[in-house]
Amino acid sequence: MAKSASTSRAASRKRPSVRALRGTVFVTRQVHFNAAHRLHNPTKSAAWNVEKFGLCNNPRWHGHNYVLEVTVAGEPDPETGYLLDLGGLKGLLEERIVRVCDHRNLNEEVPFLRDVIPSTENLVIAFWHELEPHIKNGRLHSVKLYETPRNFAEYRGPAAAA
Ligand SMILES: [Zn+2]
Repeated sequence: MAKSASTSRAASRKRPSVRALRGTVFVTRQVHFNAAHRLHNPTKSAAWNVEKFGLCNNPRWHGHNYVLEVTVAGEPDPETGYLLDLGGLKGLLEERIVRVCDHRNLNEEVPFLRDVIPSTENLVIAFWHELEPHIKNGRLHSVKLYETPRNFAEYRGPAAAA
């Protein structure tokens, strides 16, 4: 009895501890924006553009409700259990992408898309380059953009295998 009581007093004096788990995790934040665009290659004829882009070549524009998902990869911090502050990632996406693209004409109003055909494919590459230098915790893994619920493109950076 005496021994057991002394063991339990020793346990209660022990400093609290946390156990860090190792492993690469993928953390995603989703944001939305609405924007207008036109798929058009000004170096080609009107007929070529209509043939390639159809309704998306409409000179009077059309719009999409875009959904953007950005994924960062890395190991959780042993002190917080977090890979990153999701509020910080949300702020970065709002500042770099939503603020400049939401309710805008992607062809005419977004400086980093100047002279780019704003296809979903080109948008994910452009968004990657806007975001990647600002990811401080973990590394940017994926930029996925839904133009419609069934049509989306994903970019995993210049180093990703083709
Ligand atoms: Zn479109």
